[in-house]
Amino acid sequence: MPTRPVRRVLIAGGGIGGLAAALALQRKGFGVTVFECADALRDGGAGLHIWTNGTIVLDRLGVAGPVLEVAPAQQICHFGTWRGEMFGAWPVGDFVTEYGRPTLAVERSVLHSILHDALHGDPVRTGARVVGFDQDSEGVTVRLADGRHERGDILIGADGIHSVVRAGLFGDTPARFNGYIAWRGKGRLEHELIPPGSFYALFGRGTRFTYYDVAPGVVHWMSVANGPAGGHDERGVAAMLAERHRGWMPPVQDILAASPEEDIIRSDVFDRKPDRRWGIGRVTLLGDAVHPITFNIGQGACQALEDALVLAERLDACRDDPGRALRRYERERRGRTASMQRVAWLIGRMGAVEHPLLIAAREVFMRLVWPALAFRIAEHNQIAYARRWSPPPPPMPSTEEENRWPITS
Ligand SMILES: Cc1cc2nc3c(=O)[nH]c(=O)nc-3n(C[C@H](O)[C@H](O)[C@H](O)COP(=O)(O)OP(=O)(O)OC[C@H]3O[C@@H](n4cnc5c(N)ncnc54)[C@H](O)[C@@H]3O)c2cc1C
Repeated sequence: MPTRPVRRVLIAGGGIGGLAAALALQRKGFGVTVFECADALRDGGAGLHIWTNGTIVLDRLGVAGPVLEVAPAQQICHFGTWRGEMFGAWPVGDFVTEYGRPTLAVERSVLHSILHDALHGDPVRTGARVVGFDQDSEGVTVRLADGRHERGDILIGADGIHSVVRAGLFGDTPARFNGYIAWRGKGRLEHELIPPGSFYALFGRGTRFTYYDVAPGVVHWMSVANGPAGGHDERGVAAMLAERHRGWMPPVQDILAASPEEDIIRSDVFDRKPDRRWGIGRVTLLGDAVHPITFNIGQGACQALEDALVLAERLDACRDDPGRALRRYERERRGRTASMQRVAWLIGRMGAVEHPLLIAAREVFMRLVWPALAFRIAEHNQIAYARRWSPPPPPMPSTEEENRWPITS
């Protein structure tokens, strides 16, 4: 029996994944409505690395220009011990020559509002909590917490790791706690040891500290430590972190000292094992709702961006048969995101080791493998996929002054 072509897409969740999906679908001519449970549209105060594969997607969504105006291109990622012995560095600035777009560091809230501003006709409903859905052969009805119902042709669950849409499809299975907690903050300082466009990841005993600049004089950092889930910070968290990282290489203490305590965000780190099931009928999932990837490879948001583009492409190519379009999208995305979930989990385990022998083994491994082999594998597995969307590389900027990438989207 012929099916009515898809016109209106419902999206649960207005995070980076949900907004990117809305934008990708609007650009293909679909009507979209995004239901966001928060009263105001925002995304936390922390920073994000958007690797070159994510920047290429932003380009395709038509928003690379405004993002690159405010987000510094990353040149180099350094890895080392808490004492300051360096294992090696990844020259991520080279991705520009190879793929035409940089890896960048951006404030999460900035990326979020650029995606939101690019949407036509403000399709986002805030204060709209999705509590369930029903589907039939003609469409999907979303149920909201305030008792309202909304009807559309398909539903995308982009409602994060504790997804209600996922629970409605496959049952409510709890996410997996990884045994460590991340504290994120923002330091306001210029420092000779924080050259523009550089990222540092320092490893200690069951603890880590990473930092990078997101704007001149603005440094985002993350302190990670093993511990139980469900804790809360009292006043004095800044002093606790300064004590945890006492003796770490400079400028760790300077960064912490320059960071207002009220900006510090604490997150228990959860993920899930890769899942073969992503959707049923007219309903599918996207981003952390289906493939949460721990921060260890900085690809969670990048993969949500890729999902959005592939989903819109598949739906556009098969408007009369949404079930088929969604299953194609899921097949295309499943393997790629599953491997990232596994790698990120593994690197997280490696970062969490506490036994001195395991720490020594990690250091040998990182010295031998990290600078060259791991970089090549990361490029091959994470970046090269996006070449399909990549424009031909424009000429390289010639001076440091032109460190921001020219806008061609
Ligand atoms: C410490 C840390 C560092 C990270 N660093 C990076 C990085 O450098 N690079 C990178 O690419 N990724 C990184 N990530 C991962 C990245 O943050 C996530 O993968 C990404 O934000 C997922 O986006 P999403 O839209 O799928 O989900 P979310 O960001 O979780 O958005 C879900 C949205 O749905 C809303 N929602 C939830 N339930 C409902 C409901 N029932 N009804 C309506 N709305 C609902 C929420 O309010 C939220 O707005 C990091 C994650 C962490 C924790």
